[in-house]
Amino acid sequence: MHISLTGQVALITGASSGIGHAAAKALAAAGAAVVINYNRQSEPAEALARQIIADGGQALAIGADVSKEADVERLFSETLDAFGSLDILIANSGMQKDAPAVDMSLDDWNAVIGVNLTGQFLCARAALRIFNRQGVREGVSRAAGKIIHMSSVHQRIPWAGHVNYAASKGGVDQLMQTLAQEVSHQRIRINGIAPGAIRTPINAAATTGDAEQELLKLIPYGRIGDVEDVANAVVFLASDASDYIVGTTLFIDGGMSLYPEFRGNG
Ligand code: NAD
Repeated sequence: MHISLTGQVALITGASSGIGHAAAKALAAAGAAVVINYNRQSEPAEALARQIIADGGQALAIGADVSKEADVERLFSETLDAFGSLDILIANSGMQKDAPAVDMSLDDWNAVIGVNLTGQFLCARAALRIFNRQGVREGVSRAAGKIIHMSSVHQRIPWAGHVNYAASKGGVDQLMQTLAQEVSHQRIRINGIAPGAIRTPINAAATTGDAEQELLKLIPYGRIGDVEDVANAVVFLASDASDYIVGTTLFIDGGMSLYPEFRGNG
């Protein structure tokens, strides 16, 4: 199977680090022009754009806070100004602000829901408006547009001490499925990815030292995931190789969602 995204434009939110950074790299390597969104860390996003351009690709870094409607509107209009179209949205930005529920401030609840859920809604809405205007671009892709929502195994697995995060990802699951139900007839494909434990800045504390050994007990496949494990799936789901995959979530978790603590205990 050969995947080419040549002629397509992809916007990746939260791409200055971690999964988003790797996804932007992989989409560019597959031939897409990429918009690398960042919130505060401009330098890694600008550096990735420079590297992609030096390698012969097309890239642009754009700062925007995805939880703010005006920022999101500007992000998408600057994308169109630069590249003239949009074919792929990777709604990836996410954050954690952990605390037991009894200690969690409303600010921390709202901040996480604002980025992880409202941010994904705002970006998806902006992308859908563009896809609707554009329609299917013959010879470019079989779909009028593709959206991939970055969720988490915690859309399914409850997570004590992280109620804002787990609620946001449960919401992302319904956001993704409902949008897919609403717009698939317009040849727009929407899917989700639910990573397990992937080594990135968001979970640095949980993936090093003693904590890593504890975490590995929850992963039947026996290793922490790499960002490329997710980036490869992003490219597949963004391409026509997955053209009949609609409204589904791909779990990329080394088996974490198989409830491994039940093994041998049935
Ligand atoms: P990360 O911290 O490296 O990436 C998160 C990105 O979101 C950062 O680049 C950050 O700048 C960006 N971001 C945060 N607030 C933002 C805002 N207001 N506007 C725009 N961007 C903002 O961590 P990651 O692991 O790469 O996370 C990427 C996605 O994957 C997140 O949605 C996360 O919930 C999800 N995820 C990660 C794991 C994992 O194990 N790493 C597991 C499940 C799900």
